[in-house]
Amino acid sequence: MKKENKSKKLKKENKDNKFKKLRVGIFSLTSCAGCQFEILDLEDELLNIFNAVDIVHFPMAKAKNEEGPFDIAFVEGAVSTEEEKKEIERIRAESKYLVALGSCASYGGVPSIKDFYTEEEIELPVYKSTSVVKSIRADGIGNYIKVDYFMHGCPPNKYEFLHVIKELIVGKTPRQPDFPVCKECRENKNPCLLQLGKPCMGPITNGGCNSVCTNSKIPCKGCRGPLEDANIDPLVQLYEKMGFTDDDIKKFFMGYAGTSKMFSRMVGRTCEISKTGNDEDGSKKQ
Ligand code: SF4
Ligand code: SF4
Ligand code: SF4
Repeated sequence: MKKENKSKKLKKENKDNKFKKLRVGIFSLTSCAGCQFEILDLEDELLNIFNAVDIVHFPMAKAKNEEGPFDIAFVEGAVSTEEEKKEIERIRAESKYLVALGSCASYGGVPSIKDFYTEEEIELPVYKSTSVVKSIRADGIGNYIKVDYFMHGCPPNKYEFLHVIKELIVGKTPRQPDFPVCKECRENKNPCLLQLGKPCMGPITNGGCNSVCTNSKIPCKGCRGPLEDANIDPLVQLYEKMGFTDDDIKKFFMGYAGTSKMFSRMVGRTCEISKTGNDEDGSKKQ
C-alpha cells in the first residue's frame, strides 16, 4: 500500500467512527529511553495529545498497557537481539503506520558503535567474559521491517513527534525534512564552525533540529543521519586539511549512523549491511 493511501485510510476510519480515536503504541528496543523522555517532555501539549488519540501502549508512562492492533506505532531503539527481531516483526504486523523513533531505530545509532569493534574490545572492559553478552549486531528497525516514517535524531525533536501525530489524525502523509542542518543554522545566523576549524557535519546531515547544537557553538555530530544527496568527500577532504586523522574522521561518522549506506563507507566497517529493509528515504529495498 502506498504511504499516502495509508494515512488517508487512517483518516477515513477516524471519521467513520467519530468516537473511536486512533490507537497509538509507543515501544522500546535497545535504547537509552531518551526518545521516550522527549515525548514526555511535551508537557504543555501532552494533555491535548491524550485527548486526540488513545495512547494504549506506553510502558514507560502507563502501568496498564493494551496489546494491538495499533493505528500508529512509534518504535524507539535498535534491534540487537534475536528476541527483538521477533518483537519488531510482531509490532509491524499489528500496526497500520509505523514510525522509527530516533537514531537508534533509524540507523542502529549509539548501540551500533559496538559493531565496529571486536567483542573483546567492546565487552571485556565491562564484563568478565564475552559469553555473558548475547547480542547480534545492532541495526535500525528498517533492516527487518517496512518503516513508514523515519523520525531522525538523538533524540528527535519533540515537535516533530507532535507534527507527525497531527498530520496522521487529519489523514495527511507527514513529510520528512529534506534539507541539511546548515539551512537552519544559516537562518539562525550562527557563525560557521567549519571556518573556525571545528569538524561540523551540518552540510551532510538531515536538518529539522533547528540546528540546536551549532546554535550553542557545538559542531553538529550528524545525529540525524545522512542527507539523501550528501556530498561527503569534499567535507572529508576539508577535515583532513584541518588536521584530523583518519581515526578521528572514522569516529565522526561512526557515532549515530555508522551503519547507514552513506556513512558506513567512511567508517571501514566490520559488519555487513543487511540486504533487506528500507532505503534511507524509507522505501523498502527489494
Ligand atoms: S536515539 Fe538517542 S535518545 Fe533515542 S534511544 Fe537512541 S540513544 Fe537514546
Ligand atoms: S556551523 Fe555547521 S551547520 Fe552551521 S553553517 Fe557551518 S557547517 Fe553548516
Ligand atoms: S545539530 Fe546535528 S548533532 Fe545536533 S541535533 Fe542537529 S543533527 Fe543532531
